[in-house]
Amino acid sequence: MSNKIFFTPGPTQLFYTVEQHLKEAFKNDIGSISHRGKAFEAIYRETQENLHELLGLNSDFDIYFTSSANEIWERIVQNLVEKNSYHFVNGAFSKKFAQFASDYKKAPIVQEVADGQHFDTSLSGHAGLIAVTLNETSIGYGFPVNEIYNLRKQNPEAFLAVDGVSVFPCVDFDFSKIDTAYFSVQKSFGLPSGLGVWIVNKRCMAEAERLSKQGQITGSYHSLLSLKKDGDKNQTPETPNTLFIYLLGKVAMDLLDRGIKNVRNETIYKSTLLYQSMEKSRGLNPFIKDEKYRSKTVIVADCKEGSASLISAAKEKGWVIGSGYGQHKDKQIRIANFPMHSREQIEQLSDFLLKY
Ligand SMILES: *Cc1c(COP(=O)(O)O)cnc(C)c1O
Repeated sequence: MSNKIFFTPGPTQLFYTVEQHLKEAFKNDIGSISHRGKAFEAIYRETQENLHELLGLNSDFDIYFTSSANEIWERIVQNLVEKNSYHFVNGAFSKKFAQFASDYKKAPIVQEVADGQHFDTSLSGHAGLIAVTLNETSIGYGFPVNEIYNLRKQNPEAFLAVDGVSVFPCVDFDFSKIDTAYFSVQKSFGLPSGLGVWIVNKRCMAEAERLSKQGQITGSYHSLLSLKKDGDKNQTPETPNTLFIYLLGKVAMDLLDRGIKNVRNETIYKSTLLYQSMEKSRGLNPFIKDEKYRSKTVIVADCKEGSASLISAAKEKGWVIGSGYGQHKDKQIRIANFPMHSREQIEQLSDFLLKY
């Protein structure tokens, strides 16, 4: 790897053990083994077990692998939405999921607020599925977990779907309060892009079965039922990305070895440093004003004099900083605070921002 440090929200800096695990993977012929053999089944099982432990999933949940989080948006619409879905939209990613539902003619109900504003979460009985983005990566907004748990209380019948891309496993989250969640690996897990992870409970499985029997198209090789049929044998319907399933299992183990509590405490410590230095600096201001709604893993600031000069000054130090997303490109910076970004690195970066 080069000497650069990627603080971009994703793809981002690789987890520091990835190179070593890749070498091991080559030694163990991971790129050549059959996906219908015992060696693959062992890898699949190990990655599942490590993720279950890392995320604190109970036995009500199964995990399946896809190509991306985008794919999971589509699979959720196909397998879990009969009539309509409800979407909290405050940035590019939450918006795109709602668009997928619309593409499938599911007439999504959208509560859209201006970037950085928070939602009215007191709804009940509106839709069959409620979609929440735990960490809106485009603007650095963290959806308060208690509001998600309350949504469950107020909407016990609805399926609750949580986008955890760019935040799992960095914050404590009670999965027993929701039905399905998902992430892709190029953000907080520090892996190369190209693998999505879909977490579903038994209730989701029953719903997919019901909709399928009823004649709704739930997809082909990656319908929930198809994923389960092979998943029950520790296999996948297609020839999968065996290498990345292997790497994900290894990085999950490394995070477990570090202690997930430590990882989460460090996430809070490092995010506090970043926000403090942005508040104190002359040229920067945290974009999300109310602390309660600030992301702990993607820190976004308005730059009084534009983001370009800051980004190029950081580049000279070897730091790759994210620009703003979409319309905010020239005015904001986004900084990832993931488990592979060490305390020391974030302290140095905070010093740099402070003087800006
Ligand atoms: C990056 C991101 C996605 C999309 O992930 P892909 O792997 O590109 O499909 C979805 N949701 C959020 C919140 C993201 O940050």
